[in-house]
Amino acid sequence: MGSTARERNWSGTVTYTAERVVRPRTIDEAAEIVARAPRVHGIGTRHSFNDVADTSGVLLDLTGVPSDLVVDHAAGTATMGAGTRYGLVAPELDAAGVALHNTGSLPHISIGGAIATGTHGSGTRLGSLSTAVRSFELLGADGARRVLRRGDDDFDGAVLHLGLLGIVTRVELDVEPSYRMRQDTYGPIPWDRFVANVADVHAEAYSVCSYTVFGDRVSEVLLKSRVRDGADDVSVPDAVLGAPRLPGRPADGHHTARDGSVGPWWDRLPHFPIDAVPSVGSEVQSEHFVPLRHAAAALEAVRGLADRIQPHLHVCELRTMAADPFWLSPTQGEDVLCIAFTWRKHPDAVAALLPDLEARLARLDGRPHWGKTSSLDVDALEALWPRLPDFRRLVAAADPERRFASVFGERVLRT
Ligand SMILES: Cc1cc2nc3c(=O)[nH]c(=O)nc-3n(C[C@H](O)[C@H](O)[C@H](O)COP(=O)(O)OP(=O)(O)OC[C@H]3O[C@@H](n4cnc5c(N)ncnc54)[C@H](O)[C@@H]3O)c2cc1C
Repeated sequence: MGSTARERNWSGTVTYTAERVVRPRTIDEAAEIVARAPRVHGIGTRHSFNDVADTSGVLLDLTGVPSDLVVDHAAGTATMGAGTRYGLVAPELDAAGVALHNTGSLPHISIGGAIATGTHGSGTRLGSLSTAVRSFELLGADGARRVLRRGDDDFDGAVLHLGLLGIVTRVELDVEPSYRMRQDTYGPIPWDRFVANVADVHAEAYSVCSYTVFGDRVSEVLLKSRVRDGADDVSVPDAVLGAPRLPGRPADGHHTARDGSVGPWWDRLPHFPIDAVPSVGSEVQSEHFVPLRHAAAALEAVRGLADRIQPHLHVCELRTMAADPFWLSPTQGEDVLCIAFTWRKHPDAVAALLPDLEARLARLDGRPHWGKTSSLDVDALEALWPRLPDFRRLVAAADPERRFASVFGERVLRT
């Protein structure tokens, strides 16, 4: 049930310092471990690029606990184990006639891990994956299970919790009637034209992603469009800002179909299928969120570092995300532009670059992704997250002996 070997995150850039990783088969087994271990911390599928999931004690991995999916059509919810991967449960949801509002780019991640860090897809009117949480069950420091529901006091502080409030066992998500989608690619768009219209481009479809390496253009814009109920297809624009619709790629084993073909939501919202290595596979990622009103200034600020960025960059993906009320959310209070860097696996060079990059974006209220690399220290984070002191109080009340403390939380958040 346990492992003592030093385990690493998906990218191989973080070696966990935990004394062991334990994989219970049931929630009762998990509760026993929580009751016994002086220090214990939840871990998902290890796709974070930093040590947000690490602890000096025991890492509790719930991916071996059956998902036990329960769909409640009347309530519009689906409840499942927190260790469940999106990509495994999504076809089951579809078969039950329901869908999620969005997914991240990869379906490999666990639901518990995604909501803990505010993982998101794209869509100016779509909240992060954490916003779909109707309620969740938490194994607390006293070993008891409690359920937190949307509308409860402190729910907005607890959904995006970085693993610091306890072990999440079950998650109840909002679902809606199932739908189908298509992905269409457009490009290229000259840089100045794109930057002058970035918010409009990202409002062109249900979900929009743009790609650039900060040269003289945005190479590709990807529109993810929903097919209306009862329709066979949906009309999509012939051009975006003058850039034509391209033939796109059919599903090729690495990417989901980007050729305008219609398919289920779970095979179009993510960029990668679950049986493929997602993204590049040899990389580091950082991601920065700026209020959408600062989108043009932020893109120009980053492009000012293009000479230093390009040697280390695979590609940068731009997305948007709707505001939410969660205390630790990168989009708390305002809609944002998400600037996601897939860096070559040059961790030292990226670490050397990030302070300048993040200083430029911090002047525009740029916040980092909790699950990716960042150079920001606690003072910088306090300036960017006004509810951080409230979150610390929540952690202190839920876990006075700091049994769920993480390496990241102690170092970066002083929790
Ligand atoms: C190739 C790639 C593509 C990515 N694409 C996106 C993207 O499109 N959008 C985006 O926003 N992010 C993206 N990410 C980042 C990733 O989605 C987040 O880091 C996410 O949190 C990873 O989930 P995980 O299950 O791997 O969790 P882990 O990395 O294992 O853990 C993350 C956090 O969740 C906590 N946690 C996990 N399970 C539990 C539990 N049961 N109880 C309590 N706490 C728990 C951990 O303590 C930790 O704080 C990507 C990462 C990779 C590697």
